[in-house]
Amino acid sequence: MPKRVFKPIYAHEGFNLRTVQTLASGDELLHCTQRKTAVKCNALGRRAADGSISILKPHSGHSADDEVAMAKMARIEIKERAQSSGAAPKKILNEMKLKYGARPVTIAGSTSTLGRLISRQRDNKCRVADTVNEANFSKKKRSAKHKSNS
Ligand SMILES: [Zn+2]
Repeated sequence: MPKRVFKPIYAHEGFNLRTVQTLASGDELLHCTQRKTAVKCNALGRRAADGSISILKPHSGHSADDEVAMAKMARIEIKERAQSSGAAPKKILNEMKLKYGARPVTIAGSTSTLGRLISRQRDNKCRVADTVNEANFSKKKRSAKHKSNS
């Protein structure tokens, strides 16, 4: 199975940054994750091979919030765990609370929202990897079509 490549996201001083380019030096060029949102933050950072992050252009239009930044990290890890393990949603959320703290996980979403997020990740994965599920899926689609015709 091909390994899925996640663009790494980092939390840094209450903001999230995403790798956009790896420079010839091996350093990573980072953009604020709020660049393409309504915030339009143009912050620019650089991550050295040792993992240290420096900001070349400061954040604008939003303020630092450690818990929100950690919530974003938690949400990404919940998705990864949903795909890479068969653990019960409750178990995944408990692990994330231990790792990131209860509040960031609460900010990431309610228990039912995150539960749906986990099952959606698993559905998507099955649809690609499992031909039996693929067949069931098109059967469902056919019956839905049939229903709308009647
Ligand atoms: Zn920013």
